[in-house]
Amino acid sequence: MREHLELLWELQKIDLDLKNIEEERDRYPKEMKKLDEKRNLEKERIHKEREKLESLEKERRQKEKHLIGEQDKIKRSEGRMSEVKTNKEYQAILTEIETFKEAVGRVEEEILLIMDEVEELKKQLSKREKEIAITLEKVEAEKRGIQEKMGQGEVLWKEKLERKEALSKQVESKLFKLYNMLREKRQGIGMVSARNETCQGCFVHVPPQMFIEVQKNLSLIRCPNCNRILHWDGNGEKK
Ligand SMILES: [Zn+2]
Repeated sequence: MREHLELLWELQKIDLDLKNIEEERDRYPKEMKKLDEKRNLEKERIHKEREKLESLEKERRQKEKHLIGEQDKIKRSEGRMSEVKTNKEYQAILTEIETFKEAVGRVEEEILLIMDEVEELKKQLSKREKEIAITLEKVEAEKRGIQEKMGQGEVLWKEKLERKEALSKQVESKLFKLYNMLREKRQGIGMVSARNETCQGCFVHVPPQMFIEVQKNLSLIRCPNCNRILHWDGNGEKK
């Protein structure tokens, strides 16, 4: 019996490992998705900032075109100066030139404001780009880590499953059936350790005489409360 109980104990540990790997299989893709979302969000944010910068540059170019137009108007008016015949005409052209010059002044000021804004935005953008590069690098490293763990999990899964199959054949069939039945009813745990006179599955006290028997690991003893098969593996320290 002792040998079968030990085999069963190994099987229980393997079943728990398999359950863990299964949970990871479910969890890792979700973590990956979250990381992808984080990466996309960062990229979108920087894209919007770049777009804002581009639209400011475009506005600046339009204003510069406008400026050239106003400057041309001044030149044309100045050219007409030599053709004027009366003082009235001369005054009219002067007024016209004055108006164009005012417009030029306004546009120049607007351009300067835009340039200030562009400069500020470029500074921010360069800072953000550095930050994002670091964030993205971290995200990629995390993704690589998860992929690695996923690969390791699959290797481990194969190994554990092979061992499980071997053990399933070795453990006495009545004991194996009991274990499986308990495992189904008790959240995947059919065999559990007892420590300090307590079942570690349901944390209910195990009577002292029973506990002494459990410590021998010689016979099939089940928790009086949860019915799980009890196993002694020391007082928490590894064997
Ligand atoms: Zn119990």
